[in-house]
Amino acid sequence: MQPVKLEQNSATDFSIHWEDGHISKYHSADLRRACACASCVNEWTGEKQLDDKKVPEDIHPVNIRPAGNYALHIQWSDGHATGFYSFEMLRKL
Ligand SMILES: [Zn+2]
Repeated sequence: MQPVKLEQNSATDFSIHWEDGHISKYHSADLRRACACASCVNEWTGEKQLDDKKVPEDIHPVNIRPAGNYALHIQWSDGHATGFYSFEMLRKL
């Protein structure tokens, strides 16, 4: 499933329009907390390293770009830029 359009709804919220017509809405802080990169989740144990409370509620993406044809790379306003969000994961959230 591929996204066809990215829409910024407010400073902190955005939505993805999928090719089947489904629209997923995301709150940036929730998405930032769901980051599965190596510094947020221990790659060996799968244990979450990120403290949800340290993610500011007003966090927002400063840059979103596609990574290949399977994920989005999101750079956040807290400086975190190693997160890749696969379309599969975005679709499930
Ligand atoms: Zn991360």
